[in-house]
Amino acid sequence: MVVVGVMSTPFFPQQVIAKKRDGRVLEAAEIAAFVRGATDGSWADYQLSAMLMAIYLRGLNTVETVALTKAMMNSGVIADLSAVRLPKVDKHSTGGVGDKVSIHLAPMVAACGVAVPMISGRGLGHTGGTLDKLESIPGFRTGLSLDEYRERVAATGCALIGQTRELAPADKKLYALRDVTATVECMPLICASIMCKKLAEGIDALVLDVKFGRGAFMKTLPEARALARAMVDIGNAMGKPTRALLTAMDEPLGRAVGNAVEVAECIACLHGDGPADLMEVTYALGAEMLVLAKVVEDTRAGEARLREVIASGAALEKFREIVTAQGGDARVCDAPDEVLPRAKYHRELRAARAGWAGDVIAMDVALAALQLGAGRVRAEDPVDPAVGITRLVKIGERVEAGAVIARIHANDEARLATAADIMGEAIVIGDAPVAATRWIEDGVG
Ligand code: URA
Repeated sequence: MVVVGVMSTPFFPQQVIAKKRDGRVLEAAEIAAFVRGATDGSWADYQLSAMLMAIYLRGLNTVETVALTKAMMNSGVIADLSAVRLPKVDKHSTGGVGDKVSIHLAPMVAACGVAVPMISGRGLGHTGGTLDKLESIPGFRTGLSLDEYRERVAATGCALIGQTRELAPADKKLYALRDVTATVECMPLICASIMCKKLAEGIDALVLDVKFGRGAFMKTLPEARALARAMVDIGNAMGKPTRALLTAMDEPLGRAVGNAVEVAECIACLHGDGPADLMEVTYALGAEMLVLAKVVEDTRAGEARLREVIASGAALEKFREIVTAQGGDARVCDAPDEVLPRAKYHRELRAARAGWAGDVIAMDVALAALQLGAGRVRAEDPVDPAVGITRLVKIGERVEAGAVIARIHANDEARLATAADIMGEAIVIGDAPVAATRWIEDGVG
């Protein structure tokens, strides 16, 4: 039998599990024992799973959730970025379709004199991942060590990397178990999982993009608001000023969904040619980052600064610096079409009749992209960097008969045909004008 203790207080896993199973409030030391059990293997997978289900069914209060977050954060190293003199602010999104904001936002904010130490994830299920997108740039390395991460943030004010083995290892174990024990959709577990990683990055402050809608993790605004509130409270309780924006995810963000095609869209943003919806969300999140970094008084001034670094080319230059520093082919900044991988087959979808785009269903577009090979079903699956969808019509746009409403990029003809069928269902052209998506609901924190 395994006994896990904190100082002089030993805990049997089954005692802690039973306490939560019976709906009682756990002590910080009991939560720490559970997390240590996940990290050092002293709790068996069946005990960890039982505990996760007990938490799923009984919940955790705010104090317990903060204790869980702290214990998970302390299960590994906390990046020490104290040598970086600039304010350090990150942005994290709960995930959506076509959500490529981090790729151009990070250099924009870094060009405003704020360090952006950004540790991102890979795509899983219907949502894309920043790392997969960045790796479509030939040579770009996201697997930097913590020392390299520190050096890059100090030298260029930004690093865009993946989760390292040293940061929050308990989350890696617990997330894998949640994935296979139907315990992912649990507010305190989601909060702790996201926040422990962000708080281990070495940041001073954090902006969260909490998405709601058919293409998001949280389907409704009240659910998203509750998640945002919980994460903001944890961030603030841990001494890191945190603010969240609630943003829509019913239709994809921007006009591209995939990997290389999304990077190309981000580079267009840095050239000042980004789609209006994508730039609206980018400016809103970036302005919040600049306010938390205390380099501007308010979000209006923040947005003005961000517009300046786009207009002056400073944000594009910062991106070039980041790409170069991480081993990527920096020519991508000027000639993305020549540098990024290209698919073999293309097909334009055209409107059968004139009208207005009444719907572009994010989840269907994501499924089409998944069919093409842009995403992964299991964490170890490879992604095809070249495939995806571009030129997506936006809800509320007027289209004439025969106009292109999407372009499919594929490396396999059968997959192209399946994706085209799905896209035919995803886009609805109606007779009546429809309002464009309202992208930003409000802020929390
Ligand atoms: N992302 C995470 O990192 N953890 C969760 O639990 C959910 C989304």
